[in-house]
Amino acid sequence: MKIVDVRVRFFRYRPPNPLVSSIGRRRFRLLCLVELTAASGQVGVGESWVNFPSWVAAERHATITEGIAPLLVGRDAADVIGTQQRLWADLAPIGRQGGIAGAVSQALSGVDLALWDLLGKDRGLPVYRMLGGGRQRVPVYASGLGPQLDENRVHTLMARGIGAFKIKVGFGHAEDYTQVARLRQLVGDGGRIMVDANQGWQTPNEALLAIRKLAPLGLEWVEEPLPADDWEGMAYVTSRSPVPISAGENLYGRAAFARWAHRRAFNIAQPDLTKVGGFTEAWAIAQMMPAYGLAWAPHFLGGAVGLAATCHLFALVPGGIAVELDSNPNALRDGIAALPFPAAVEDGHIVLPDTPGWGLTLREDLLTVHEVPWQEAWREADPPADSPSQK
Ligand SMILES: [Mg+2]
Repeated sequence: MKIVDVRVRFFRYRPPNPLVSSIGRRRFRLLCLVELTAASGQVGVGESWVNFPSWVAAERHATITEGIAPLLVGRDAADVIGTQQRLWADLAPIGRQGGIAGAVSQALSGVDLALWDLLGKDRGLPVYRMLGGGRQRVPVYASGLGPQLDENRVHTLMARGIGAFKIKVGFGHAEDYTQVARLRQLVGDGGRIMVDANQGWQTPNEALLAIRKLAPLGLEWVEEPLPADDWEGMAYVTSRSPVPISAGENLYGRAAFARWAHRRAFNIAQPDLTKVGGFTEAWAIAQMMPAYGLAWAPHFLGGAVGLAATCHLFALVPGGIAVELDSNPNALRDGIAALPFPAAVEDGHIVLPDTPGWGLTLREDLLTVHEVPWQEAWREADPPADSPSQK
């Protein structure tokens, strides 16, 4: 099963309202798909994170077509783990040298997901079943709420059986408290609430002050209270916080998670399959965290392919908390596949289909509506463009 072609494609969707977090706002959603074609004609599809900032689309196109494709064409697609390790060994040093270590990891993630999809399709099995997983139903929690709480959206999510909700914070103590308190009122004492600061506090003391003000509202975790590379600060906050600390969406590779786990820089690890190095890396991390006495919950905020792959990992490895399901409208997640999977939720769970690979039947007619050339993927037709300064 030789790989004969590598293709990278970009898709764009403009939601009704911009998405806002403590690091900025985004006016549209992007999706980057990596398609690997085998000599048999079978195509495997993976997703690479390009959610924010949108200009990473230009880098991603270059990294995959110039950096990865020449190493991939001609390799045996069935040698998934060997290929992932080879690419990681060859490209991680180049990524560090070029100051794009994380970007290379995100690009490799798309390739890794496409390799697993291809193998599953070749074997005629869903990936999680091919690897020995048994669970078909995976629990989800709703994310992407706030900073201004949309009460109708919370009611809609609760009607779908979802009982856990994550809201953005990092907009000032008073505003954060007001919004989280409204959410507590809506979901009642039994509802589970997480908050995401998106690296919004700069020092451990600032973070601890903010966390202690919110803690009485009953939080399951506080996500990324500090800059994502400040492991010392995170270890300090984790050791003193009254609420469990989570992080990991901006860590790359299993070695980084091992270092953070060893230093107790979080309580809950959050690998993102489209960033961390793919299914292969996230699988290793999910298996490794319990050995440190730590929990894991996969991070995800992208399109249909990455969400499906995340569900497969959760179905394969017991012990995760829940899969993250972005509650914002996104046609690149909900409107490009023939089946409602993966975004359909029944009684708070996503049910995995028995179809091979990631279980998706992507519809070319729906994809074409959103497809843009890479040169235009990150350009905004009408300002303001995505920008960290657009708070
Ligand atoms: Mg987050």
